[in-house]
Amino acid sequence: MAQLSDDCFAFGGALLPLAEAQARIVAHVAPASGCESVALSAATGRILAQDVLARVSLPPQANSAVDGYAFRHADLSLDASTNLPLAGRTAAGQAPALVPPGHASRIFTGAAMPDGLDTVMMQEDCVVDAHGIVLPAGLGKGANARPVGEDIAAGQRALRAGRRLMPPDLALLAGLGHATVDVRTALRVAVFSTGDELVDPPHPLAPGQIHDANRMMLLGLLTRLGARVTDGGILPDNARATAQALRAAAGAHDLLLTSGGVSTGEEDHVRAAIAAEGRLAFWRVAIKPGRPVALGEIAGTPLLGLPGNPVAALVTFSALGRPLLDRLAGAVYAPPPALRAVSGFAYRKKAGRLEYVRVTIGPDGVAHRYPKEGAGIITSLTESDALMALPEDMTNLAPGETAPVIPLGLLHG
Ligand code: AMP
Ligand code: MG
Repeated sequence: MAQLSDDCFAFGGALLPLAEAQARIVAHVAPASGCESVALSAATGRILAQDVLARVSLPPQANSAVDGYAFRHADLSLDASTNLPLAGRTAAGQAPALVPPGHASRIFTGAAMPDGLDTVMMQEDCVVDAHGIVLPAGLGKGANARPVGEDIAAGQRALRAGRRLMPPDLALLAGLGHATVDVRTALRVAVFSTGDELVDPPHPLAPGQIHDANRMMLLGLLTRLGARVTDGGILPDNARATAQALRAAAGAHDLLLTSGGVSTGEEDHVRAAIAAEGRLAFWRVAIKPGRPVALGEIAGTPLLGLPGNPVAALVTFSALGRPLLDRLAGAVYAPPPALRAVSGFAYRKKAGRLEYVRVTIGPDGVAHRYPKEGAGIITSLTESDALMALPEDMTNLAPGETAPVIPLGLLHG
């Protein structure tokens, strides 16, 4: 079971910079998963348990990249076309033809190169006549042939331990001949919503009620990240019931994830439950949206309490939930790549906090601010393309300046 170590609880209530909060996750949360072997078809999103070395070369034999004629480059005259007699034919999947010296040979895409031949001319570029083939001058040695191990050579490291497996990784593993892969066991994550105003769809709403939107989003985000999720339902705004439900779930899960109830209001019982039942590591991070976000533990199980507004819940899940999951799962957290876009708008912000502005990106690469900015506007997530991440120290963004952007699609998987 992962444990939060003691010294992170000394922290008071000040706003913690995001990088510091992420560093605390790594420093204080231990990996919680074991290892198992799974079929490649079930491995998307799972964390690679060990380095994988290529046990064969890719491609395993030299082969043709085009449909055409293979020959020895040494037989080609440098400044005039060359006539070569033809011998043999090799299609993909066949053993390569035996080709006598001084001959060219018919070959197709993916077919093994006949022994001794090193270059292929595309069929569109040659003329076949009664004597064989006419090859124009000018083709470089090795053209249109794929050498053994061009992709990866046997013995080289193909994938590093700790990597979250994505479909191209599965292509590489399958290409290297693996049917299964050793991965870290899936994290068991229980997801709760909190709030007396929440009801599950499709129940009709009584006055004052709204449908719970966050739980479905969080369950989806976790599933895409390879977690085994438990739907913990909706917790009422009641300190005892909240504490009891979280404590009951702690034993059978590697992580408890809640949304709502982490601010300072009288009805915010998650933070109070952590303080009463377990220990709180931090609960205020210098990001907008999403400032109230609590990391703690209950009965030895980490708990991440996300804010209730759906946009804030997504942003904090990505900024803190994702690194926490990666840490628990034994993965190496890789922040989204640093892409930049040109701003089409002016923006003023307070120094000292990281601000995520929802933007759409036009065909010209210019980012436009989504017109509705409330942290509860779910359509701002479905309609935007990216979050523009304005750094802590920035106070003014002028139109035409570039700023970092994180495509929303990268936050989801
Ligand atoms: P809270 O963090 O509990 O103060 O909630 C902040 C805002 O988010 C309130 O307007 C809540 O009604 C809303 N909210 C909380 N949880 C959810 C949820 N699961 N789905 C949709 N809205 C929510
Ligand atoms: Mg609430």
